[in-house]
Amino acid sequence: MDKTGETKVFVVDKNVEDFQSCSQIVDAARLIQAGEVVAFPTETVYGLGANALSDEAVEKIYKAKGRPGDNPLIVHIGEMAQLSMVAREVPGPAQQLIEAFWPGPLTLVLPKTDQVASLVTAGLDTVGVRMPDNPVALALIRAAGVPIAAPSANRSGRPSPTTAEHVRVDLEGRIAAILDGGSTGVGVESTVLDLTVQPPMILRPGGVTREQLQEVIGEVAVDPAFEAGKETPRSPGMKYTHYAPQGEMWLVAGEEERVRAKMAAMLEQARQSGLSTGVLGTAESVRFWREHPSVDVALACGSRHDLHSVARELYGCLRQFDDLGIQYIVAEAFPRTGMGMAVMNRLEKAAGGRFLSV
Ligand code: AMP
Ligand code: MG
Repeated sequence: MDKTGETKVFVVDKNVEDFQSCSQIVDAARLIQAGEVVAFPTETVYGLGANALSDEAVEKIYKAKGRPGDNPLIVHIGEMAQLSMVAREVPGPAQQLIEAFWPGPLTLVLPKTDQVASLVTAGLDTVGVRMPDNPVALALIRAAGVPIAAPSANRSGRPSPTTAEHVRVDLEGRIAAILDGGSTGVGVESTVLDLTVQPPMILRPGGVTREQLQEVIGEVAVDPAFEAGKETPRSPGMKYTHYAPQGEMWLVAGEEERVRAKMAAMLEQARQSGLSTGVLGTAESVRFWREHPSVDVALACGSRHDLHSVARELYGCLRQFDDLGIQYIVAEAFPRTGMGMAVMNRLEKAAGGRFLSV
């Protein structure tokens, strides 16, 4: 698509006492009310927002991102009063989860109202809704006075943006404004939980873990599609290649010494074929890889002892490989428990199924 015009950048003054009266946020909210698209920070990644009650406004999101029309958007609310505008029914377990995790990185799939623009839900009779845990996002939605539909603010297929600069690189000239509120905290998207089935099912792993959900509502299923890697996922968006860097990426799992030996052999071969090479490691392994003769760039993506730090830095690292023009990337795998479930899901998508167990 051609560029559509100038993109304003509103930098939020972090020292402001009350975000609600912050002029940059008020200006961004006016653009939302006028049916425009504005990128804004949440606690997970940057979102690309428009009035969730207007098909005309929401259509601009799909256009700016180049997002397929069958992939529904998440609706963000700024106060509990807005929930009934989008969800027709809120069953008991949903209430319990809301009390435990909102505002926070948990999207609940619920029966939708007629008010929600049909483009938001891609024609489904359910809607994904959450309240983000970010003061700038909450102030923006409250000031706009309408729920805001927002996917991640990247061009379709690119890693999600965790800074305003990532958004600018992908979408400058294609959206009305970027509200810059600094880096996001969680770094991977929200957990998407379907509450219209019994037991509730995780459609996308994310910032709230399966273990945390089970502590509140008991049994929680996981869409078999991303455990087996074969079936068609129930969440329309999960079938698309996401988060991918431009280079060819491989993911290697297993015992540490064997993983290192396998990765070293792969990198040596890639180097011999004339490719530039990168390693996605952690604080624990990065020195080893930086000193390795077959490695051009080794990045430390958080610490193996804190998978939240890995989640926070993952997309930034993938983008860095692109910026450096790395053609062949090998990544170390992580355990799939807790936050590791979301991290491994994103890594597998980034690697497009190139997974080795040694
Ligand atoms: P993104 O907007 O890029 O964070 O992606 C949103 C994710 O939530 C995608 O995987 C969507 O397919 C999923 N999603 C949103 N709404 C629904 C819904 N009503 N039913 C199932 N999945 C949904
Ligand atoms: Mg996305």
